[in-house]
Amino acid sequence: MESRFFITEDIKEHKKGRDILNILKNYSIVSSEAEFLKILKEKKSGFEKEKGYFLFTVKKGRFLKSYHLDENFQKIKEEYYLSYENNCPFNCVYCYLRDYYSHGACIFYVNTEDMFHELDKHTGKNEMISCGIVNDSLVFDNITNISHDLINYFKNRKDLILEFRTKSKNIKGLLNEAVYKNIFVSFTFSPEEVIREYEFMTASLEERITAAKKLQEHGYDIGIRIDPVINIKNRKNAYTDLIKKLMTSLETKKIRDIGLGSLRYTKGLKNKVLLERKTDLFYNELITGIDGKERYFKGIRIQMYDEIIKEIRKYGDFDIYLGMEEEYIWKKVLK
Ligand code: SF4
Repeated sequence: MESRFFITEDIKEHKKGRDILNILKNYSIVSSEAEFLKILKEKKSGFEKEKGYFLFTVKKGRFLKSYHLDENFQKIKEEYYLSYENNCPFNCVYCYLRDYYSHGACIFYVNTEDMFHELDKHTGKNEMISCGIVNDSLVFDNITNISHDLINYFKNRKDLILEFRTKSKNIKGLLNEAVYKNIFVSFTFSPEEVIREYEFMTASLEERITAAKKLQEHGYDIGIRIDPVINIKNRKNAYTDLIKKLMTSLETKKIRDIGLGSLRYTKGLKNKVLLERKTDLFYNELITGIDGKERYFKGIRIQMYDEIIKEIRKYGDFDIYLGMEEEYIWKKVLK
């Protein structure tokens, strides 16, 4: 049977590569990332099926990237992200990675020592570095054990804040580690209806809450991300019920911050999705924004944020921020 795992030989020159080879039972060898992508494209299987393929290789470029934000938007917390793993096996219909990468396969770069050397040269000013922007931080942690390496590095970098971000329940690695104040874990939460319709293969809402709860019990602070908020039929009830559930299940003192954002996407993403599946995601009152992305009319966005923030504030005074929104929207909904 053809393996879905591929490697390039040079991963054997790196400790992380050798550790991963001790776990992988069955894999194929390719000469380069380009050859892997050529094999993938010859299958003509489409983005969603490509998600079943995985390459371990060595990265030539930079690992630390700054978060691109349109100049019209208010600054967000995640100023940088790490790019040691690209793509994710989950299949969220709205995922911007569909249009960001030319393929759906997951690629993990084993030369993590180069990433840490790069970080050594980065002078921290207490900014947040996320390791879950172009991937899911935890979904492959049982193979890569990357959480261990990241924690081991960032525990000595008190000048930086590390965010893990996930929709998985794969927290075993994190539970084996000590907890440090500058390292936290964010979960993206959505109402069950949204998970069912638009977040295929991800952990259920209950599973995400249980995982977040266990991490809080272990000592971690948890970040709540509700992004993208989707204008579903039963929106108000679905999202206020979600907040109720989160606030009554989690320890509110250990909620570090709450990030909200509404559905936004490029035309390219919409076209790619519609090539592969039927969905009602793009049929709503949408308008092209200042950054060229389609999003809900501003009145709908303000109403959605208002409903959610009003519910959140019943449970305390939390640090709430908006993703990819202009200053006047922040002022309006976070007054
Ligand atoms: S979990 Fe995140 S990275 Fe993975 S498919 Fe969903 S949105 Fe994309």
